[in-house]
Amino acid sequence: MSAVDVAVVGGGPAGAASAIFLARQGYAVTLLDRARFPRDKVCGEFISPAADALLNEMGVLAAIEARRPLRLKGIFLAAHGERPLWVDYPPERPGGSPMSSLSVPRLDLDGLLLQRARAVGVQVREGFAVTDFRVRDGAAVGVAGKDDAGAGFEIAARLVIDAGGRNCLAIRRFGLRKKRGGKRGKIALAAHWRGGRRFAPYCYMHIQPPGYTGIAPTGEGEANVVLVVEGGALKGKDPEEFYRRTVLAEPSRRALLEGAAPMEKVRAVDSLAYAVRTAPIGGLMLVGDAMGFMDPFTGEGIYLSLRSAKIAAEAAGQALAGRVSSRQAIDEYRERRLREFRWKFAISRVLEGLIERPAPCRWVMRALGARPALAEDLVGVIGDYFPARKVASAGFLLRLLGVAAASAFAPAESGGTRPEKIPAGSPES
Ligand SMILES: Cc1cc2nc3c(=O)[nH]c(=O)nc-3n(C[C@H](O)[C@H](O)[C@H](O)COP(=O)(O)OP(=O)(O)OC[C@H]3O[C@@H](n4cnc5c(N)ncnc54)[C@H](O)[C@@H]3O)c2cc1C
Repeated sequence: MSAVDVAVVGGGPAGAASAIFLARQGYAVTLLDRARFPRDKVCGEFISPAADALLNEMGVLAAIEARRPLRLKGIFLAAHGERPLWVDYPPERPGGSPMSSLSVPRLDLDGLLLQRARAVGVQVREGFAVTDFRVRDGAAVGVAGKDDAGAGFEIAARLVIDAGGRNCLAIRRFGLRKKRGGKRGKIALAAHWRGGRRFAPYCYMHIQPPGYTGIAPTGEGEANVVLVVEGGALKGKDPEEFYRRTVLAEPSRRALLEGAAPMEKVRAVDSLAYAVRTAPIGGLMLVGDAMGFMDPFTGEGIYLSLRSAKIAAEAAGQALAGRVSSRQAIDEYRERRLREFRWKFAISRVLEGLIERPAPCRWVMRALGARPALAEDLVGVIGDYFPARKVASAGFLLRLLGVAAASAFAPAESGGTRPEKIPAGSPES
């Protein structure tokens, strides 16, 4: 049985980032993934602008840039036939470089992260499925499993990080998934489309019953199209047919995707959002989707995974250096993560509720359209480059209410549809 400082389960963004940050502190890290890379993952593939700094810190941004990825300059938002909004990111980041968000296929992103993990000394084992934790005196002391040739393995570790995503071993083994308020779960259907016109460099969000779509251009005439609906909407229907018909039913989406068609089978992810309880043992940290998942409307999962990995690695480093116990490190990590993201989670929940309610959603769209600065603040918070308190404040709410009240008495200039503005062209078109 081999022995390491840290065994990381899962080689997605959370696992790779945790491994990189810990290896760079000088610890011996083994990362195991049951898949062989490149492996794909259902995802909108839109990465928050704030992730650039973390990717740079990990030493992986240059390799991403070398592939000449698409960079998006803002968000397009259309809802319930209201006039759509084109919200640009600020022209500059605090350091002076232009603000934009990466759109990178997960096939590339996850492969590059693992490559970087190897380069900083992480032992990466692909085709290794972890099936159990080794537990002693109430703490994880290693992992066991089988490789894809059927051979068993066991690795002793001073600390285990489970970054196995939404169905990770810790969630299943300890029954950690919490139900969310009796609500029926949402389902996401996703596919890459090809053959359309050139998309303007924006992430396109369309809210229209029975759900919403996120469309991120991924290349010349190519886009990743994710449709999110209540699980019940799909009952008894063929998913491929339902997905295609629903995506193209909304006029502005139809115009945007004119000439394009899915280039692969539609993939589904159900029970989209969930929360996770604390694991009942020490020595085990959960990072990334293993810690819970918000509705993907705000497109924050990758950034949250990378940032959480950094916080987890700092706390884990304290335990590995013997300064605190593993339980103290786990608590410290949970508290710091929550402190940093509490307001962002709250805003995401409010937005999740809002998009399901046409009347208030229209009202907010009109207010944001009438006062672009408010829309820019909201997009900045969603993109993680403004603190969430900028929006989760009485001041923001009062300004929103004020604008909404004023526009209720003004001629409906900023409301209504403007279908001629909606198609794929740029905001200037
Ligand atoms: C429909 C949808 C759209 C999304 N859109 C976006 C978006 O546009 N932008 C964004 O930032 N986020 C988005 N997300 C969220 C994002 O995909 C996740 O937050 C992110 O992938 C989490 O990374 P992770 O490393 O925690 O998990 P994952 O990326 O799922 O990686 C987990 C890894 O663990 C491995 N694994 C699991 N169990 C084991 C085991 N027992 N043994 C060995 N290996 C194991 C798996 O093979 C996998 O490689 C979206 C999610 C969904 C569902």
